[in-house]
Amino acid sequence: MPADFLAEPYKIKMVEPIRMTSREERQRLIKEAGYNMFFLRAEDVYIDLLTDSGTSAMSQEQWAAMMLGDEAYAGSGSYYRLKDAVESITGYPHVLPAHQGRAAEKIVMDILVKQGMVIPGNMHFDTTRAHMQLRGGKPLDLIIPEGLDPKSRHPFKGNIDLDKLENVLKQHGKEKVPFVLITITCNNNGGQPASLTNIKEAGELARRQGIPLFFDIARFAENSYFIHTREEGYREKSIKQIAQAIFACGDGCMMSSKKDGLVNMGGFMAFNDRSLYEQACQLSIINEGFPTYGGMAGRDMDALARGLEEVLELSYLKFRMGQVAYLAEMLLKAGVPIVEPPGGHAVYIDGRRFLPHIPQEQFPAQAVSVALYIEGGIRTLELGSIVFAEKDGQTGVSKYPELDLLRLAIPRRVYTNSHMEYVAAHVIDLYKRRDTLKGLKMVYQPPVARHFTCRLEPL
Ligand SMILES: *Cc1c(COP(=O)(O)O)cnc(C)c1O
Repeated sequence: MPADFLAEPYKIKMVEPIRMTSREERQRLIKEAGYNMFFLRAEDVYIDLLTDSGTSAMSQEQWAAMMLGDEAYAGSGSYYRLKDAVESITGYPHVLPAHQGRAAEKIVMDILVKQGMVIPGNMHFDTTRAHMQLRGGKPLDLIIPEGLDPKSRHPFKGNIDLDKLENVLKQHGKEKVPFVLITITCNNNGGQPASLTNIKEAGELARRQGIPLFFDIARFAENSYFIHTREEGYREKSIKQIAQAIFACGDGCMMSSKKDGLVNMGGFMAFNDRSLYEQACQLSIINEGFPTYGGMAGRDMDALARGLEEVLELSYLKFRMGQVAYLAEMLLKAGVPIVEPPGGHAVYIDGRRFLPHIPQEQFPAQAVSVALYIEGGIRTLELGSIVFAEKDGQTGVSKYPELDLLRLAIPRRVYTNSHMEYVAAHVIDLYKRRDTLKGLKMVYQPPVARHFTCRLEPL
């Protein structure tokens, strides 16, 4: 162990038992689940790396704060505590809660996006993109080319391409561009960060055209930590100061607090502009709830207010990001092909390089996923040929994505480093006998979002 190795910066007060099943049981369970991880019961999973969303462990302070929740319909004290927490980080004075991130997205898109508009960003999240399209808008991903290269070790693979952004803004102007949206960290290429220099310049380009810059901030603390460790000039700044510097470049944000809020449900919007906030309140009243709760219980707003403070603590982030890097390093040392450098919240295995003998139409990343469940009771998520294949409407031939990845998402404060060692041991063991793994075929698929409910069979 290196001397700067950091163990968990917390000790355990309450335990949640996890159950190890037998290999025979797991073979039966995964078969019954149609070889689809979404159909497994959580109690049949030993280590659950399906997602980092809504799976965080709360602290004793958050649980204590829940007891102080004020459940008043209007003017709840919990709301004002949340508003103060959000405003002190973002500087945006107008704060509106929502029951989760996508609800905030829907409200913002309904107000600002109209037929034929374009919305440039580094890389929009799936539901965000869908809400733009539902309004007749066109989402544009302007990520730098390194952001799409799994072998590039660029420190800020979430940066937006500034030349492309400038061209789009000049070409369409403020009549057709309602706002620019930067997602931090950039989720769709693996939790990769954007640099402060890049964010500042994007903000200036937008401002010059009179266009606002917004942020999608599900993992803003992890992005701030990457700036702290990787970008010149931010070593001496606190994580909170870095977050404040990010938000100062823009005009508003939307958050899914299921990630860096360190809570299990919730979200919010925050804006500089009062009239935008007032329009959002109107939509909140008919869709989410009165503006001082917006779909959240008072106690949940208190837990979130506290979570937003804890997520900016350096000791928390150092361990969190160190844990993801620790898992990645164990795999790299054994030659397992992963996306480098690892992002903030997950390690991604490259399915095509892991199983070069399995063609993409036989879902190599899913084959690794199924084997990891059978061998170790570990649940992971395929983000590749099952999720992203596009069928040609005329020929019926499937077009597969360039990358066939398997995501090992790490929940916040939930697993110990010895759980990571267990996961690494199983991945490495599988990699050593990768020649014995076989592909899968799809036997049922629904018309949309097939990964959630499709069924497979081993070949
Ligand atoms: C999770 C997420 C969302 C959507 O939030 P939900 O709380 O799941 O509705 C939006 N953007 C990003 C970047 C996310 O990670």
